[in-house]
Amino acid sequence: MDNIAKWSQWPADLHQQPDQIKRQFSAAEPKNQPLELDDKTLTGIFAGSGKKPYTTTLGKCTCNDFVKRKLPCKHMYSLAHQLGYTELHAAANDYDKSMTILASYPSTNGWGNWHPGIHKDWTQKERYKRTFEAGMTVKSLLVNEQTAVINGYNVNLKECTCPDFNERKYPCKHIYRLAVELGILEKPLDEAPRYQVSSEGTMFVIKIK
Ligand SMILES: [Zn+2]
Ligand SMILES: [Zn+2]
Repeated sequence: MDNIAKWSQWPADLHQQPDQIKRQFSAAEPKNQPLELDDKTLTGIFAGSGKKPYTTTLGKCTCNDFVKRKLPCKHMYSLAHQLGYTELHAAANDYDKSMTILASYPSTNGWGNWHPGIHKDWTQKERYKRTFEAGMTVKSLLVNEQTAVINGYNVNLKECTCPDFNERKYPCKHIYRLAVELGILEKPLDEAPRYQVSSEGTMFVIKIK
């Protein structure tokens, strides 16, 4: 097998899946660069979570992630990138990473046609948590039509007329509130906020480290 074939054994569309994009973001981090790189055997040595380093090739890796999933881990992406076989997804900050990952989810037949994975993203969790914040008003709730007017915005499960939805095209707090009102989602539990919303508006959410 020639060297190129070793990386091309992975189908190209695999690298566009959400869980693979996350690993490519990790692969770009300084801490995930190889300690040693052998460009003849196409093998890299990476720092492990324990004492023993990982041995990585373009086809496999000794880390737990590869052993469990049998799909490229962050070490394999880092190695493939170092050897010039692949570009990595790049993002300027956590918010941009989220937007890239969100865009990689296909639509489904679930509520609002949203993929369930979307709601697990930290930018979406933050919006869901704000569905009962002070001052939220729900009017004209139509259960059969699955619509309402929330804070003056026209909301259905797929769309909202608010600036946040208009900017991002992913569920805003109004869409999540409607889903709670319709019994599709549970009311969020009260939790200490893990994220801080900037005073500039609803568009950007800053992750508290
Ligand atoms: Zn690995
Ligand atoms: Zn909205």
